[in-house]
Amino acid sequence: MDELLSKENLELREQTREIAERYVRPIAAELDRNAEYPWPVVRALQEAGLMGVWIPKEYGGRGAGILNLCIVVEELSKACGGVGVTYAVNALGSFPIIVGGTDEQKKKYLPELASGRKLIAFGLSEKSAGSDAGSLRTRATKDGNSYLINGEKKWNTNGGAADIYTVFTTVNPERGSRGITGILVEKGTPGFVIGKKEDLMGIRCVPVHELHFEDCRVPTENVLGGKEGHGFKHAMMTLDLARPGVAAQAVGLAQGALDLAIDYTTKREQFGQTIASFQAIQFMLADMATQIEAARQLVYQAARACDLGAKNVSKFAAMAKVFATDTAMSVTTNCVQLFGGYGYCRDYPIEKYMRDAKITQIYEGTNQVQRLVIGRALIKESASSREGKETKE
Ligand SMILES: Cc1cc2nc3c(=O)[nH]c(=O)nc-3n(C[C@H](O)[C@H](O)[C@H](O)COP(=O)(O)OP(=O)(O)OC[C@H]3O[C@@H](n4cnc5c(N)ncnc54)[C@H](O)[C@@H]3O)c2cc1C
Repeated sequence: MDELLSKENLELREQTREIAERYVRPIAAELDRNAEYPWPVVRALQEAGLMGVWIPKEYGGRGAGILNLCIVVEELSKACGGVGVTYAVNALGSFPIIVGGTDEQKKKYLPELASGRKLIAFGLSEKSAGSDAGSLRTRATKDGNSYLINGEKKWNTNGGAADIYTVFTTVNPERGSRGITGILVEKGTPGFVIGKKEDLMGIRCVPVHELHFEDCRVPTENVLGGKEGHGFKHAMMTLDLARPGVAAQAVGLAQGALDLAIDYTTKREQFGQTIASFQAIQFMLADMATQIEAARQLVYQAARACDLGAKNVSKFAAMAKVFATDTAMSVTTNCVQLFGGYGYCRDYPIEKYMRDAKITQIYEGTNQVQRLVIGRALIKESASSREGKETKE
């Protein structure tokens, strides 16, 4: 349904598709095998001016918003889910600056991120603080004109590759989420060490590391928004804007897997005919294509809602994430099934799609947590509509 997209959407999609086919698809299996960072792809994206599509124009980006971010992520993920997140994580890391940074922080960091000269990561999760991110323990203590950070972060996507880290700390654990404070930490700051690299099931080309902080001193001007205690709000606003991107990664993975499955089933012959000529197979292809299209339209609508600054984006972003990522998991699993035994070995690219898809149901808030977000929003909406009716009566 290209008619539903703008000229800019279509141009960005075409530009990214060319990069994905030229630079990503030929090396996707090798990147996965060697768990190598896709530098040639990132350089191609930099040269094409695609690294900061979501960053406002006044800070050197394309100002093209969340829908265009989703379109780029989807196209990259069709060829490799790992490359999709390698790109999208820069949006996740930079959204806290966009939604909560001071003007000085925006001027200092966003132009370098927009050009792709610098990369960024988002550090919220810890070993004991995953779904319950508000219970994080990494401590920031004020010391004159600086803060000392002590603690560790788990699961930092882009760890090691990034130059800037948005790190969520607490200035006072007794205040719970109201003590959480975002701090921008630059690579190379004394006391900041990139720790263990995770050996992942999928998305293996993006490095995911632990981060360690030991008396890591950062100036007070690096406190996000210049104020203590606003970090949790910034992190949640960030996740609302970033979840359509994960959902787009899932749509890309599902579409990429379905494209391979259509190609395979129209060539593979059993019982003297292509397996695609069996109605049972056609029904599977039809169901998958329908689910993917439904997921895509929900993701694009959630992205449009973000771009318009709609009030209920949390609910829409969570719905898009749940639906698209559950779709990606079921579609990629079914595509492996359509390859039969060949789907289960690494000679064919299809099993990688299933491994890459799994993480989309887990990170940026598990799908159970997304369902909580949706459920709570529904209850709140119902309560306020009841209140509205009572006031009228
Ligand atoms: C590859 C990878 C990359 C990541 N990248 C980043 C990153 O860049 N930055 C970052 O900050 N984090 C990152 N994460 C962390 C990710 O967001 C967390 O793993 C995720 O939020 C879940 O936290 P957890 O792993 O501690 O699981 P837990 O919170 O321990 O959850 C375990 C299970 O319990 C369920 N559960 C928990 N609470 C509830 C509840 N209230 N109701 C119902 N079910 C519940 C969960 O859904 C899950 O199924 C990454 C994780 C991975 C694996």
